[in-house]
Amino acid sequence: MTAATLPIIDLHCDLLVYLTDVPGAIQDNVDEIGCALPSLTQGNVKLQVMAIYCPTKSGSTAYAKKQSEAYKLLAESENCLTAVTNLDELHQALKADQTGMVVAIENASGFCEEDEPLEDGFKKLEKIIEDAGTPLYISMTHSLANRFGGGNATTLGITRDGKMLLDYMHGRKIAIDMSHTSDALAYDILEHIDREKLDIPVIASHSNFRPLWEHERNLPYELMQEIIRRKGLIGINFLRSFLHNDEPDAILDHIKYGFAHGAEDVICFGADYFYTADEKDVSRLPFYFPDLLHAGISYSYILKKLQEQLRPEQLQKLAYQNALRFIERLWSVS
Ligand SMILES: [Zn+2]
Repeated sequence: MTAATLPIIDLHCDLLVYLTDVPGAIQDNVDEIGCALPSLTQGNVKLQVMAIYCPTKSGSTAYAKKQSEAYKLLAESENCLTAVTNLDELHQALKADQTGMVVAIENASGFCEEDEPLEDGFKKLEKIIEDAGTPLYISMTHSLANRFGGGNATTLGITRDGKMLLDYMHGRKIAIDMSHTSDALAYDILEHIDREKLDIPVIASHSNFRPLWEHERNLPYELMQEIIRRKGLIGINFLRSFLHNDEPDAILDHIKYGFAHGAEDVICFGADYFYTADEKDVSRLPFYFPDLLHAGISYSYILKKLQEQLRPEQLQKLAYQNALRFIERLWSVS
């Protein structure tokens, strides 16, 4: 198998938001979203994590519920996608001509409104699990603050509810995602997990490295090292704003930086494809450099470009093996 044809596991995309939020959205429309189904097939994506995303505001749980229903519909209809809920299905997906998928929750406001009892929020989370399967990970926040803690655009730490959410997640085989935490919240999460000896893996599903590119969405060196020490995952994000303003191959530098600084066994992909056509902030354009525009071309471009600098087994780790090993540990019965 050449590097360009390796199977791919990707930790983050926003297909579900696109399908539920954009009028006339079609899952096969490669012109509107980088993770349209034909692109996933073309890119040899064998497992795609589908985020259930919502902003923190009144009605957030209804907004997220639509996405878990959209996920269910994708799983049940005739298409290239197949829901993966256990290790057998995961291993099957890696061999098959299909794309496996699993959900994740990008902002806990998706199951708990700001002003409802926490217990009711946990019931809604259980309903999402019933409909769409156990999420691979939960991110407490998006960019802003909510009842659980401070998002990446804030400096706020964890709240009492945030700690209770971690207590709830203990032993449930769901990772906690640091990609949208403030630094303070990230450290508070680690401290609470350690103090209470909670069994919760720690990942950053779609973030790059802050020492290379200064952005609040990228991981500071210390958090990167914590995720490595805890055998988590770091999914490399393809968005230009988290890579470099004008260096098209900066993504290769982020990946090489990861390999050079201890992340060899945790680095993977978290491309972050979403619907961009309604963006009003022109400074964000273009969202992706041309070689990273969609899943059909991006992974193979990266893997091919890195063939000279990384060994074949390192390319395999990046493409799918690190994510596979992580999920195998997470889902194994013990
Ligand atoms: Zn995100």
